[in-house]
Amino acid sequence: MENKSKIYEKRREEMVRKQIEARGIRNADVLAAMRKAPRHLFVSEALMDQAYGDYPLPIGEQQTISQPYIVAEMTRALELSSDDRVLEIGTGSGYQAAIIAEIVYRVYTIERIHSLYIRARKLFDRLRYHNIVTRYSDGTNGWKDESPFDAIIVTAGSPSIPEPLIDNLTVGGRMVVPVGDQFSQDLIKIRKTESGVRKESMGGCRFVKLVGEHGWKE
Ligand code: SAH
Repeated sequence: MENKSKIYEKRREEMVRKQIEARGIRNADVLAAMRKAPRHLFVSEALMDQAYGDYPLPIGEQQTISQPYIVAEMTRALELSSDDRVLEIGTGSGYQAAIIAEIVYRVYTIERIHSLYIRARKLFDRLRYHNIVTRYSDGTNGWKDESPFDAIIVTAGSPSIPEPLIDNLTVGGRMVVPVGDQFSQDLIKIRKTESGVRKESMGGCRFVKLVGEHGWKE
């Protein structure tokens, strides 16, 4: 008899083929990570059957886990290598951090809502993501003590690029951050070089608000 986790594995495979590969993502590390991380365990039990659908889902506290394609596309844009140290702002469900943790040496992730921070920490332990370091704080201030990072991903929408995060990047480092108003944002990719910062737009997106000192005020 087929068990539940086999069913989810099949759905995950279908998700990768129809939502990720079909839309042009070919990066082998990203595809392998999306095939591996059990997305259904990052949502509540009531939503598990929808976990592999082509949309974001609520995770409580008025926050959301991003659509699978957005997770894959942002991960691809970070141009990750296996020895990279990556900072994420907005742990949420922990799913995006888990995807990155499948690829790199270590992930540092910051969440400002205590209940989400606790839930993600417990899940990382249970699923043995020992290379994810969690912190309960305002991520718009960055993480100076652990900086610089090879890549930074912001998974909430900001009115502007938080300056401390640029300071936290290595020279050669990449950052993706949604910038715009609270209804729609432009996904901005940043590359820090010897001579300054290069920016390019990856297109439109919609995220929940980045709330903090260098983001939206409550
Ligand atoms: N990466 C998450 C997406 C969660 S939604 C996932 O894979 O599920 C965005 C998250 O950013 C929310 O949990 C929200 O509480 C958090 N957030 C918003 N502003 C923040 C800030 N200043 N610092 C840290 N986390 C923040």
